[in-house]
Amino acid sequence: MLLLVTVFAHLLLLLLLLLASPVSGACGEDGVYDYIVIGGGTAGNVVGARLSQAGHSVLIVEAGGVYELDNANLTIPLMFGAVTGGSPDTIDPRVDWGVITTPQPGANNRQLHYARGKTLGGSSAMNAMLYQRGTKSTYHAWAEAVQDPSYEWDEILPFFERTFHFTPPNPDKGLQNTSIHWNASAFSSENPVEGSIQISYPNFRSPFSTWLKLGFEESGIPETNDFVSGSLMGTQYSAAEISPLDERRSSSDFLLGLAEEEPFLTVCTRSLARRILFDDQLNAQGVEIEKDGKVWTASAAKEVIVSAGAFNSPQILMVSGIGPRDQLESLDIPVLVDLPGVGQNMWDHVFFAQSYPVAVDTLTKLYTDTSYMTEQILRYQTSHEGPMTYAPNCLGWENLPVSYQAEFSAQTQEELSNFPDDWPQAEYIAFDAHVGNYSNPAEGQPKDGRQYASIVGALVAPTSRGNITLISNSTDDLPVVNPNWLTSQTDIEVALAIFKRIREIWASDALQSITTGPEYYPGTNVTTDEEILDAIRNSVITVWHASCTCKMGPREDPMAVVDSEARVHGVQRLRVVDASAFPLLPPGHPTSTVYMLAEKISAAILAQ
Ligand SMILES: Cc1cc2nc3c(=O)[nH]c(=O)nc-3n(C[C@H](O)[C@H](O)[C@H](O)COP(=O)(O)OP(=O)(O)OC[C@H]3O[C@@H](n4cnc5c(N)ncnc54)[C@H](O)[C@@H]3O)c2cc1C
Repeated sequence: MLLLVTVFAHLLLLLLLLLASPVSGACGEDGVYDYIVIGGGTAGNVVGARLSQAGHSVLIVEAGGVYELDNANLTIPLMFGAVTGGSPDTIDPRVDWGVITTPQPGANNRQLHYARGKTLGGSSAMNAMLYQRGTKSTYHAWAEAVQDPSYEWDEILPFFERTFHFTPPNPDKGLQNTSIHWNASAFSSENPVEGSIQISYPNFRSPFSTWLKLGFEESGIPETNDFVSGSLMGTQYSAAEISPLDERRSSSDFLLGLAEEEPFLTVCTRSLARRILFDDQLNAQGVEIEKDGKVWTASAAKEVIVSAGAFNSPQILMVSGIGPRDQLESLDIPVLVDLPGVGQNMWDHVFFAQSYPVAVDTLTKLYTDTSYMTEQILRYQTSHEGPMTYAPNCLGWENLPVSYQAEFSAQTQEELSNFPDDWPQAEYIAFDAHVGNYSNPAEGQPKDGRQYASIVGALVAPTSRGNITLISNSTDDLPVVNPNWLTSQTDIEVALAIFKRIREIWASDALQSITTGPEYYPGTNVTTDEEILDAIRNSVITVWHASCTCKMGPREDPMAVVDSEARVHGVQRLRVVDASAFPLLPPGHPTSTVYMLAEKISAAILAQ
């Protein structure tokens, strides 16, 4: 009942928000606002909330709808897996842009579904909810790259804290023998429950994770305290963007929940930004928008902020005349500013996995036993416990052991030496099911009655770079997404090393004590480097961390798109605030940094 009341209250707030009166104009009608934010996603909702809370009239233009209404299953943590597989079959057009990559040579020319939220909340509405921060040196590298010391760890810490309300794990829930540590002081104790994104822990620690943690420790990856205090090496349970009251996803639209207190905020959903409008002096003047087939114009008295994500932000800049000259001219787009970096320099993380049959209950049981699934859904609804609250949060981080690094070529060793020492090369994630090629995780489970578990390995210091280009001059068409995964020699060598290291971890006494058969995937017949690389290429998929496609940097850097206050080079009154503006992709899961950046730039806008 409490769950229903909470869901209802949240939906009511969202409805109030959607009905809120704009200062001038309404969705679908021309109007004037102080600020227009393109994209009601992870970053855009922070910016919209903060500027309107300060008394400015703000319009958020969001192409998608409200996921809590369009696909309420996404509020349940485990359900993210149903809509994010590499197969196009998993695309849910109600909440997802439906991006399919170009053929990827690094993935044996497969074309993969790349999940991206098209809904209020953006990709925070369909992600795995893991919350951790990069390392101190990561942000030092960021500060150096953009020549702005305000990105040093101590300076950005207040912005990391600003968005969240933290609740420690509930000792009465989950497995009692799980040792879990956290650092509550890394979050502000002043943030209210309402109007803040919730950080806590799922009320479910998988049995496999407890064994994997032992396996990590046995393999030289020691227990650490937390992943939010500026260091990552070691193993621990990660916090999650989850509401402890009802174990629902806490996405960025939660910040808009206090709509009735913010009469200056207008949110137009199912509204596609078509292009940014400029005057002759290259001041951004407004945005051309389409809703229900009608095209209308919102004018910005102060600024336009693009927060459309790593794929769509560069697209919107390019169709508006800001980008690589040759590409714009080939599509008859008048060039306002020749910025060659728009859409280039895409960073991403990729993963692959090894699976074993195990002697503990995993999600395989959930996916293959319908009566067990029904039982667990009821359990979730009544007591907010069990595997439906699952977020894969037992993590391990390391620089590969010396014996592995000794095998790297001189070029790879040199490229890796460009990353700071506290920036891990590898992330390992417990995944309580068979992963395979993550084509369709629910349907892809073996139906042989056994339980499966996997260790996922991710490259978190990648050197391959992808790009976003256009096929037309219209945002009606999706941009062309070419992540270029595993194309650098360094990434190939690191991927091979991570694969072998995972086998070593599986060989630990702790994990061998729960396996009930030999390696199931990719299988014990995969032994030579050539076979291993082929297995990796057949199964590799994104961790969905696309970023840096409008990278931050000084004007002298020819590939920089925005300055350190996220202002687009060469024009006025236009910023890009989202993962595309990162100059580099911190190790691990990026929403913490997206939220930090959105808070930091909002503060800069308000201070001017
Ligand atoms: C499946 C998945 C799992 C992930 N797991 C994690 C995780 O566990 N932890 C973590 O930290 N990160 C995770 N991530 C990554 C993280 O969610 C993203 O990096 C982050 O949400 C990106 O935020 P953003 O603001 O840049 O873009 P988004 O949140 O994607 O927001 C962009 C918004 O702009 C809107 N938009 C785009 N174009 C237009 C247009 N033309 N007009 C109007 N609106 C438009 C979109 O609909 C969207 O709402 C995951 C991502 C996915 C997809």
